[in-house]
Amino acid sequence: MPRPAMTTKRKALIFAAHAGVCHLCGGKINVGESWDAEHLIPWEISRDDTDANLRPAHARCHKVKTARDRRDIAKVHRIAAKHNGSWAKSKRPLRSRGFEPTRGRLWQRGELSRPSHATDGENE
Ligand SMILES: [Zn+2]
Repeated sequence: MPRPAMTTKRKALIFAAHAGVCHLCGGKINVGESWDAEHLIPWEISRDDTDANLRPAHARCHKVKTARDRRDIAKVHRIAAKHNGSWAKSKRPLRSRGFEPTRGRLWQRGELSRPSHATDGENE
């Protein structure tokens, strides 16, 4: 579903509903200052384009929030892709460290004292 267009009238209603206060810095949006109707929860995450998810914000404040939101949006997309299986699995799986050498090998190499019952692999 395409996002409904932001009309001048709709933007004015959002501005009035929040008394012209930037929801990001809490400051008044003054005459002549550029501002945007901004998504409280990023649209890419919520897909919510209703007025309930829109707040007025200074263009400069909005820019800062968008930069921060990009990280969250990328993470949400990654999680969704891993959840539905479209995220490519690594072709090079992690290798385990392997097992420690056995006690027997350690004493053969002289790193452990020889146990009293050891036979050194020979038959008695
Ligand atoms: Zn602001």
